[in-house]
Amino acid sequence: MTTEKIVNQDELTRIAQAAMAEPQKTVETAAPSNPLVELPGGFINENGDLVTTAAVRELTGEDEELISKSASPSKALTTLLVRGTVSVGDETLETADFDKMLSGDRDSILIGIRCLTFGEDVEYSAVCPSCSLQQILVINLKEDINYVTLDDPIRDRTWDITLKNGDIANVSLPTGKVQRRVTEAPDSITSAELTTMLLSAAINSINASPAKPNTALKLSITDREALVKQISTRNPGPRLSEVSKACQACGESVPTPLSIGALFRF
Ligand SMILES: [Zn+2]
Repeated sequence: MTTEKIVNQDELTRIAQAAMAEPQKTVETAAPSNPLVELPGGFINENGDLVTTAAVRELTGEDEELISKSASPSKALTTLLVRGTVSVGDETLETADFDKMLSGDRDSILIGIRCLTFGEDVEYSAVCPSCSLQQILVINLKEDINYVTLDDPIRDRTWDITLKNGDIANVSLPTGKVQRRVTEAPDSITSAELTTMLLSAAINSINASPAKPNTALKLSITDREALVKQISTRNPGPRLSEVSKACQACGESVPTPLSIGALFRF
């Protein structure tokens, strides 16, 4: 097959002419920079400034060795996050600072590190709920995940919710600290206990009096459900559990929920 048959000759001539007509471009040489990850919630630094990007890097064998020595998957994720994050805004963070970061920002950074280290694609074996075809779907971590962001990254971190009895609960978005506790919880933990853990960290006050250690336990079940629902709806970050792909046979949506742990083979 000749080139003429592959590409229209007129098109080739046009490209050649355009290339010759264009002045030689000078290539800007910049210092190699680390890829940036957008933080859907944003990190508030020591000066009270909102930082919306983090620089991340590819993990090396040295990191891998350290991560493999972690006592639990949760500790491994923290090590991975701390080592793979080069800077947040202009600063290098201490391990303790990652506890203050919103859980969705931590997840976004981890996805960024995953893309650099193992690539952007994840192969997912799934059965189509419409036509029952078993297939391997390829999820692109940069294109196939929806992110929720905060409209007002400063004010939307904390808000009031009216409880069934008219009391006002003031709540905050989940941070790395509670995320760590939830992932470190033993397998035997019940979903009610997880709810208590999440709400104990989220509730700041009831009717402006500071929350007590048993505040989350004393709430009614419907109030607890309403609080969890509102917190998870507002929580900024990647919606990993909502990822789906089109079926290769019938085109219907196939749910392909992801988790951070699964992205790193824990
Ligand atoms: Zn199908």
